[in-house]
Amino acid sequence: MEKFTFTSFRQQFPILEDLINGHALVYFDNAATTQKPICVIDSYQNYYQLNNANVHRASHALSARATLAFENVRGKVRTFINANTNKEIIWTKGSTESINLVAQSWGRSTLQVNDEIVLSYSEHHANIVPWQIVAQQTGAKIKVLPLTLSGQIDVEQLESVIGERTRIVCFGHISNVIGKINPIKEIIRVARKYKALTLVDGAQAIAHLKVDVRALDCDFYVFSAHKMYGPTGVGVLYGKRELLEKMPPYQAGGEMIKAVSFEQTTFNDLPHKFEAGTPNIAGVVALGSTITFLEQQGHAALLEYETRLKQYCFDKLSTVEGLTYIVNEAPDIPVFSFTLANQHNHDVATALDSVGIAVRSGHHCAMPLMQYLHIDGCIRLSLSAYNSFEEVDFVVQQLKSIRKSMLEENEKTGTFEHKE
Ligand code: PMP
Repeated sequence: MEKFTFTSFRQQFPILEDLINGHALVYFDNAATTQKPICVIDSYQNYYQLNNANVHRASHALSARATLAFENVRGKVRTFINANTNKEIIWTKGSTESINLVAQSWGRSTLQVNDEIVLSYSEHHANIVPWQIVAQQTGAKIKVLPLTLSGQIDVEQLESVIGERTRIVCFGHISNVIGKINPIKEIIRVARKYKALTLVDGAQAIAHLKVDVRALDCDFYVFSAHKMYGPTGVGVLYGKRELLEKMPPYQAGGEMIKAVSFEQTTFNDLPHKFEAGTPNIAGVVALGSTITFLEQQGHAALLEYETRLKQYCFDKLSTVEGLTYIVNEAPDIPVFSFTLANQHNHDVATALDSVGIAVRSGHHCAMPLMQYLHIDGCIRLSLSAYNSFEEVDFVVQQLKSIRKSMLEENEKTGTFEHKE
């Protein structure tokens, strides 16, 4: 397959040919999950058709083949994010499970009364609730990092929240609502100063940025395959080996043990110590194809297209009267969150859906962020490299027409627009 060009890239995604409500699908909900290229769909199907067996267990040839394919992908992920060893790559169901694993394994065994867990106001619920639960279990407390007006974690405020009692700082590489890259290096530097660990939620970054966990020097990094053109039900926990070695198992069962008697159990070595039960083998194999696909496209070419599309979309949306972005700066990835004056967010999303445009409206699993911004929700358009400039034009035209209909309706009923 040749390097990224828009047309050849888009052709890899059969679902984009679909009609929704009689209109060509315009899929602008990529931050929720991306569509899958044909090679990933084929790889998933081929696994079941040609290679299906359980891994790591049997002495038969098919199991050896499945195990090899499965473990090869661990190596691919290690290279993809530049981890030190395959032992640092733990399979999970997704970012959510990866965070729960760290909270329940590291957190529950380490945190003590009045220890502090630092989060930010822009976290997804997946990076809040697991910490709340472990805080209740251990007596630890949660502290929250404020944001700047452009929606990034405020570096000026780091040391007013992170301090001697901080044990871990957990934050998104990029918020799923704001789309700005957080000042990750600076946050990690301050966390280190206070000997606190860092967990980076990379769910939204992994499809857009080149992630190098060693360069970032974070302790944990989590992501989900389905947000980077891969299958659902597979995620990764990267953790520094020396930390993972010390952490107790998260779940227990087959696969994560060396020997079991009714008196005692010895646990398996990394990474298997954290992988109880039969894993999502087909999903992992398909993630391997996803990485090959992305590498063939070339990161620079993909990024260059996304950057142009993002700027175009930001400028075009800015021409829609009554549209207010939730923060006052262009995003770093093509994720745009806004409200439309005097329009309910869900009504806008439903009107767009009626002409085939898929967007998301609501709190985006970030209720504390909505409270922080004093809004009850917003509309989010999240684009990917298979989206076109024409699709942006179509969405903008539809938003303008929703607004026009609303104003006409108001004129008829004698209602005046409420100005903030
Ligand atoms: N963190 C962020 C920033 C997200 O956007 C998401 C998914 N919307 C998650 C965590 C959770 O990912 P998953 O549902 O794949 O576990």
